[in-house]
Amino acid sequence: MDFSIPGAESLQAGTVYGIGRNYVEHAKELNNPVPSSPLIFLKPRSSLVFGNGTVVLPSRSSDVHHEVELVLVIGKKAAHIQEEDSLSCVHSIAIGVDFTARDLQEKAKDKGHPWTIAKGFDTFAPLGKALPFTDSTDLQNLDLLLTINGEVRQSGSTRDMIFSCRRIISELSSMFTLYPGDLIYTGTPEGVSAVKSGDVVEAKLIGTDSTLRLDIRG
Ligand code: ZN
Repeated sequence: MDFSIPGAESLQAGTVYGIGRNYVEHAKELNNPVPSSPLIFLKPRSSLVFGNGTVVLPSRSSDVHHEVELVLVIGKKAAHIQEEDSLSCVHSIAIGVDFTARDLQEKAKDKGHPWTIAKGFDTFAPLGKALPFTDSTDLQNLDLLLTINGEVRQSGSTRDMIFSCRRIISELSSMFTLYPGDLIYTGTPEGVSAVKSGDVVEAKLIGTDSTLRLDIRG
């Protein structure tokens, strides 16, 4: 597989970080407590799909949910970066969908097990075209939309994040050195729901050409 990031072809996708429960209304809809620091998980690189494509539902799950998210693409090595400086390592932004096998995640949560399997199947991390991050990009004022078969399921704004992108990067870099090509899925607003084979999921960063059109296959 070629891991070149669409729109940022000079970068090869590296570690894929995810942030859980970063929007209050989404934490509530799954009856989860709101975290006091960012909840961090990883997705394997093999879960990436670049641009439009197919998402394959794994046979071990019968409840795969969509989670539309803003994705940050890291462009510079960063370790122990302070919040106020942390955006200096952002190369670009993109729309992404963090597919999650909710039934497997619930089981893992009950047992205190990691979320790796629930979050990590092949095709569970579609990523749209990366758009350059500039001084005029307000990461905390971006609108996200996800539809299934043309019907709106998620419509949210990064204004409602619990932990800002600055905070997330600073926190991650306090534990893990970030490298060019690393991706951060920054959490999902409310409205997550199950997808089924035959569905067409479309997602976008509103007002941009970072979009995704995904065919769900069983
Ligand atoms: Zn997510």
